[in-house]
Parts: sequence; structure tokens; C-alpha cells
Amino acid sequence: MGKINSEWHREHRMPTNPTKKQRAEWHYEHAQHCGCRELTPSITSLLVSQGFGVPEQRQSKA
Ligand SMILES: [Zn+2]
Repeated sequence: MGKINSEWHREHRMPTNPTKKQRAEWHYEHAQHCGCRELTPSITSLLVSQGFGVPEQRQSKA
């Protein structure tokens, strides 16, 4: 698991009761700025279903 980008998290809070679109947007941005969570199959399918591409996941291992 990658390192948490606490500054990004402070500025990007998940809304309460987010819509699918809001969740997809959050995860899309998150994956590009922070490596604290894995992109699970359910997240990638959410992204695709909401019209987002699947971002390159930051890898902690080379
Ligand atoms: Zn994170």
C-alpha cells in the first residue's frame, strides 16, 4: 500500500451520502494524488460506469 497524502485528503473530503458520480470523481482524483488505497475492482468498475478512465495506480513496489 502506498503512502497517504494527508494534505490531499484534508482538501478533498468525501461528501456525506455521495452520489455515484461524486464517489467516482473522488476516487479518480484520489488515485492520481494518493496511494493509500488500492483501486479495487469495484472502484474501477464504478469509474468506468461513470464515464471516467481508470487512472494509473501508484505502486509502492517497483
Ligand atoms: Zn489516500
